[in-house]
Amino acid sequence: MEGQELEEYVESRLLTTTLDKAGAWAASNALFPATFGLACCAIEMMSIVASRVDIARFGFEAFRASPRQADILILSGRVSIKMAPVVRRVYDQMLEPKWAIAMGACSSSMGVFNNYAIVPADKFLPVDIHVPGCPPRPEALAHAILKLRKMVQDQPDLGWRSRYDAEKTAELMPG
Ligand code: SF4
Repeated sequence: MEGQELEEYVESRLLTTTLDKAGAWAASNALFPATFGLACCAIEMMSIVASRVDIARFGFEAFRASPRQADILILSGRVSIKMAPVVRRVYDQMLEPKWAIAMGACSSSMGVFNNYAIVPADKFLPVDIHVPGCPPRPEALAHAILKLRKMVQDQPDLGWRSRYDAEKTAELMPG
């Protein structure tokens, strides 16, 4: 490939790449979590907007009351099998691109409530980041959100959930 053909090829690629990166940069600096708490981890989650951690420094302070305005679903606590369809409904109402964080041992691996009534988040959601701890410190959650920001910048298509296997979820979701 050379001459005019090469020039057109480079121009078309350059424009697409630049727009993708610009969009990812904008999205990564305004990640708004859904207002949604599940258990004791939610108390730690709330404190990321307080002055000590102050997640507003990075553009993430706006917890949105409507899932349709939110970018991140933070699973802040254990999820029971009865609650899983509700969580999934909230997640499905969020517009793409969207991401999910499993905060704490319970939502990642059932934690201290490891019994028949609890389900780990990976079983019904595509989780992007797991935050260990019981509960994780607010700083750990802030760190996870900053990690997510880097992931969004590096992988602009990450939040488009078409990669997710919906059939796998359907098996686990009653009704
Ligand atoms: Fe509560 Fe610990 Fe489970 Fe978080 S991980 S919901 S703090 S028991």
